[in-house]
Amino acid sequence: MELHLYNTLTRRKELFRPIRDGEVRMYHCGPTVYQRPHIGNYRAFLFADLLRRVLELADLKVTQIMNLTDVGHLVDDAEEGDDKLEAQARKDKLDPWQIVETVTEQFFIDMEALNVKRADAYPRATDHIPEMVAMVETLIDKQHAYRVGDNVYFDVHSFPAYGRLSGNRIEDLEAGARLEVNDEKKHPADFALWKSDEHHLMKWDTVFGPHGFPGWHIECSAMSRKFLGDHFDIHTGGEDNVFPHHECEIAQSESVLNGPFVNLWMHTKFLQVDGGKMGKSLGNAYTLDDLSERGYSALDYRFLMMRGSYRTSLNFTWEALKGAAEARRNLNDFRSRLLGESGAEGGVALDAIAADSAVAKARQAFRDALADDLNTSESLAALFMLRNAYVHGKLSASEYPAALTLLDEADGVFGFLDAVESGGLSDQEVDQLIQERGEARAAKDFARADTIRDKLSAANITLEDTPDGVKWFRG
Ligand code: AMP
Ligand code: ZN
Repeated sequence: MELHLYNTLTRRKELFRPIRDGEVRMYHCGPTVYQRPHIGNYRAFLFADLLRRVLELADLKVTQIMNLTDVGHLVDDAEEGDDKLEAQARKDKLDPWQIVETVTEQFFIDMEALNVKRADAYPRATDHIPEMVAMVETLIDKQHAYRVGDNVYFDVHSFPAYGRLSGNRIEDLEAGARLEVNDEKKHPADFALWKSDEHHLMKWDTVFGPHGFPGWHIECSAMSRKFLGDHFDIHTGGEDNVFPHHECEIAQSESVLNGPFVNLWMHTKFLQVDGGKMGKSLGNAYTLDDLSERGYSALDYRFLMMRGSYRTSLNFTWEALKGAAEARRNLNDFRSRLLGESGAEGGVALDAIAADSAVAKARQAFRDALADDLNTSESLAALFMLRNAYVHGKLSASEYPAALTLLDEADGVFGFLDAVESGGLSDQEVDQLIQERGEARAAKDFARADTIRDKLSAANITLEDTPDGVKWFRG
């Protein structure tokens, strides 16, 4: 399976060739753990998970690293403003370290609910201060960086390729008045590698002085190098990471390495809400709990994200989520029927089935679409066509086992089907849960109702709302 992936750096789709045969090393910019990530952040993380799963489908061994930013990310991505963690700590009158713990724990709970596969490591910035300091020292030695008091800045004029990723030109950046606030820099577009502030709550005593903390960009240069080596395959983030974050990472890392840093840069377009930007102050920076209160599971959201291309900004609406939940249910139902009514078993060697069979054609379309820069909507369309053929009696019964196997393969990539368990609940227990679900709904406790529904569907129980009340069956 050959993959063509869009590279932000070259601005075109490229045939993906890993640096080492059969192996991919990739790094994702993870959450800044100052507050629970919203559904927009999870769009970026779901993309990272999808990419990993597609690489695995293409038989590549993936090493995947996602960092946790727990210091140095300023409220304003440019040079000024408070550290996001410190600002939150002051606002909540909490210790920033405590916030890091709480938010990180919540992040992992959310990621599990979203069925995101665990990365090989989630390094924290604050655990890698020595690696960052060493890199900054090298940059000073190589005259790519300079000290002003206890602060250290990167000299963008020392790196001719600065601006290649984002398309920004140094002259244009320097013409921007906002950048001229800090006059201790040699050039307005220079950026901080190390900052000093005695009032900062998270600070380190280093060769640069007693009260320092790292700039956000150097964190990812240092951690990716430590976990993936000098030159690795893929680096991802949301579209806002292109500049300044990734532009600065390239400048730092390539200046240290005197060679290439990352081959392929991939960026997820933003999730918008009701056609506009998401924001705390706008009250639309939804979390998974907000979705669950309205009766939607994390997997419904996951499915919604898989329906659109990662390279198109996506507009979140409740209507769209409802549609995604229904479509997901249809695929779940397709699998249940193959398993239950048809008694099909999976485990078919899909590579060996007749090329002109409906399942083989669906599989080809499913894989071709993914190989074309992760075209998930087309890939899903192939599965729905197969389901439609089944529903309309146009799928031959001899193909059921292969269809089931294909659904399993697809679920390995999309990860949205409910877990199948072989029952586990007695009839009385099912009745009891259905009654509790009805009570929870009457009391508008949708989170609980949702949890019960998930529990039932995990036990392979399908519910049907009828005029005579809820009916259920296994499979
Ligand atoms: P942060 O926690 O701000 O460091 O962001 C974590 C990740 O989420 C980064 O890769 C961002 O680019 C990404 N991100 C932030 N907001 C959105 C959004 N609305 N849609 C998609 N990705 C986002
Ligand atoms: Zn980063």
